[in-house]
Amino acid sequence: MKYISTRGQAPELTFEEAMLTGLARDGGLYVPAEIPQMSQDDIAALSGLSYEETAFRVMWPFVSGSFTEEEFRGCIARAYEGFGHAARAPMVQLAPNHFLLELFHGPTLAFKDFAMQLIGQLFQVALKRRGEKVTIVGATSGDTGSAAIEAFRGLDAVNVFILFPHGRVSEVQRRQMTTPADSNVHALALEGDFDDCQARVKDMFNDFDFRDGVKLAGVNSINFARVLAQVVYYFTAAVSLGAPERKVSFTVPTGNFGDIFAGFIAKQMGLPIDRLVVATNQNDILHRCLSGQGYYKGETIPSISPSMDIQVSSNFERALFYAYGQDGAAVAQLMDELKNGGFDVSQGAMQALSELYDSGRCSEDETLATIKAQNEVANELLCPHSAVGVKVAEDKRNPSVPMITLATAHPAKFPAAVEDASGVHPPLPPRMSDLYERPERVTRIGNDLATIEDHIRKTI
Ligand SMILES: *Cc1c(COP(=O)(O)O)cnc(C)c1O
Repeated sequence: MKYISTRGQAPELTFEEAMLTGLARDGGLYVPAEIPQMSQDDIAALSGLSYEETAFRVMWPFVSGSFTEEEFRGCIARAYEGFGHAARAPMVQLAPNHFLLELFHGPTLAFKDFAMQLIGQLFQVALKRRGEKVTIVGATSGDTGSAAIEAFRGLDAVNVFILFPHGRVSEVQRRQMTTPADSNVHALALEGDFDDCQARVKDMFNDFDFRDGVKLAGVNSINFARVLAQVVYYFTAAVSLGAPERKVSFTVPTGNFGDIFAGFIAKQMGLPIDRLVVATNQNDILHRCLSGQGYYKGETIPSISPSMDIQVSSNFERALFYAYGQDGAAVAQLMDELKNGGFDVSQGAMQALSELYDSGRCSEDETLATIKAQNEVANELLCPHSAVGVKVAEDKRNPSVPMITLATAHPAKFPAAVEDASGVHPPLPPRMSDLYERPERVTRIGNDLATIEDHIRKTI
């Protein structure tokens, strides 16, 4: 399988190359040159299989050629063995024909573990084979950083440095980054805000001496390997409700469009998905765009669902690529216009998008009210991101088609908002209940490129 750039000007790569590279050289995002198909029989045969076996069958056509079957099965097994639920992605019912897909049973209690845990294993195998070692740097406002640290801890082909804004992440998020004891993972508390963290990471990638010297690599959400890992739970969920005979819809709490784009891939592969519903919080650029108002940047307003507080949605470029009939030049032009504030989507592309996606927006008050109501009527404590999804799903759903809303994080990850809304303090799962007692290890560092680079060079 070859991978091509959404902007049409970068070389075609194998899965392994695209995974290790991340962003394409023309600034685009890698997508498979062709989306593999699963027949109705292939999908029916997934019924009753383990999460791991389904994962193998769904992802194998995308990665074959880069890994042996045995290597890939081993990566999948190691990626999900640390999850706190035998089903990995179990479902519960909220209301007649409305289901919640719990994606928060991984080591950092958010859905990003599904992709990060797998990418950690794949990096290790690929780098070992190549005899290489890389340094991963990332900026985080909370969830991605802890997921990356958990995924790469103890893997000797990789050093990980995560920059987070000092004093501006929740205590659970900070402790998840600072308590792993493995010597290859490093939490850096930067004197600055999240934008400073992101800017310093970007600076490091643009400093070619440093970049080549430490063999810098990234694992942010534009990496196609992350999208691919997320395709799997669309299959397990739909099949458990009767696919391929019965159609289902999904509602996805959305920020960078990675998770819902995985749903698009599942649908293109042949999974009978009726609607893909994009749920946004008050940072609603995607809802505005999908409602026909063009794609124009606004101010980011901090919300109680912070992992969806985005100004531009990086993976939306992939959706546009398909909506524009895989025309890389058209996408490159749009991304140029985005630098100056935004663009209007052509009529044809808008038509293509509306055949796939619905969208809705949930205010802060509605988020709190949904957490309270679901705790009362369904006995289900939702995190604020999942609550955004549930609210939009209720507004948008067709009662005759089962709706599956993705629960993207565990309520205990956002205890303040959940308690504020419901009066209930969400407890950590038992396997993590000692998080507050574990010793922390963190380096406080100034917001200065040379200081950070120096620290990384000395540490590795
Ligand atoms: C990252 C994240 C999201 C948004 O997912 P995207 O793939 O960026 O759209 C939603 N909820 C939680 C809890 C997250 O961590």
